[in-house]
Amino acid sequence: MQKNSNINLKNMKKINKAMTLKCLWKYEELSRTELAEKTGLSPATITSLCEELLNENMIIEERAGVSSGGRKPIMLKINPCGGYICAVNILTQSITYTLINMDLKKIKEFVVKNSEEIIIQNLFENLVKDIDALLAESNVTIEKLIGIGISIPKEYDNIDRRVLFNTGVSADRVNLDIALSFNYKKPVFIENDINARAIAEYHLGAARYTSGFMYIDVSEQVRAAIVYDGQVAKGPIFQNNDIGHMIIDRNGPRCTCGRKGCLEALASMTAVIKKIMNKSSDNKTVISSAEKTGTIKKIDSDFVIKCANEGDSFIREVINEAVEALCIGILNLSSIFSIHNIVIGGKVKRIKYFADLLRLASNKFGLSEDMGIVVKMATSADESINMGNGAIVLNSFFEDMERW
Ligand SMILES: [Zn+2]
Repeated sequence: MQKNSNINLKNMKKINKAMTLKCLWKYEELSRTELAEKTGLSPATITSLCEELLNENMIIEERAGVSSGGRKPIMLKINPCGGYICAVNILTQSITYTLINMDLKKIKEFVVKNSEEIIIQNLFENLVKDIDALLAESNVTIEKLIGIGISIPKEYDNIDRRVLFNTGVSADRVNLDIALSFNYKKPVFIENDINARAIAEYHLGAARYTSGFMYIDVSEQVRAAIVYDGQVAKGPIFQNNDIGHMIIDRNGPRCTCGRKGCLEALASMTAVIKKIMNKSSDNKTVISSAEKTGTIKKIDSDFVIKCANEGDSFIREVINEAVEALCIGILNLSSIFSIHNIVIGGKVKRIKYFADLLRLASNKFGLSEDMGIVVKMATSADESINMGNGAIVLNSFFEDMERW
């Protein structure tokens, strides 16, 4: 009995230490009194935990805070130089390597070209070469590396992520994360791009520290992630972020999945492009800008966004229909998952008036703060996806009880 109760006390301390660090991470800086209030731990426990964390260089003491009458309190914060994360965003054309400190601040970044050959044959070798270069250029040793966070786009969902890895004893095909983890002796997390963007939005964007929200990415496809308390919800429904195939209008256009009237077939940029093409030929007219430049066959998202931002009224009308379909989708998703905070990101963010159309359609379909549903546009920059990758690593680092 005595032994068990010791184990429990030890575990309790680890949990409290992780909770204290996560609290400081979330609120950026707090006094010991505030930490006790936020965590619910006693002031004596907080004092003792902070002493240990200061000795471990995990936290630092900051400037004096605002006094509420007595002595000015010393503020505590996570030591930004306590460790570093290597974040890697893989896209079809390029790979971005970013070194991030514990404040989620970018220390160093470079971009290298990507190719199908790298993805299929040499991904592991290239990642190791460039991660080594990132660490060397930043003067960060492996000991200071907390972990590696990688995002991979949907285009690579079906590639074989096993790589040939030589352990010195044998050469086997192992999963990329295992091979990298073995190589660096650090944890490695591989996420899809939507989850990484959602986490970036939680730490740096419109959903900053919202307890639960849904991030919906509207680009060529419509995909989503749910984030609860800073962690992406996992499960069969969200495994492939495929909410885009929820049916909105059973008489709607055919979707790539074979069904009719899916959210993706009505609200994605692909749907907008298709509608522009169809409506153009139906009416024996073509959209003015495409006609002028003779590029009707090259209509893609970038072209549509450009025309939209130049004020093409026909495109605005088509986009408005897509926004209305999106709002019906949001209404359904909000009811199914009991999520009341929605953040819209993706390529549509680049359409200047998208937020205005979204606001109007939200009012029309009863998506308002009065109705308990808040719909916002994403605010974190596209490049901040690597901050999401970094935050996924840090979150796990703070929660890893074995560390403490
Ligand atoms: Zn579909």
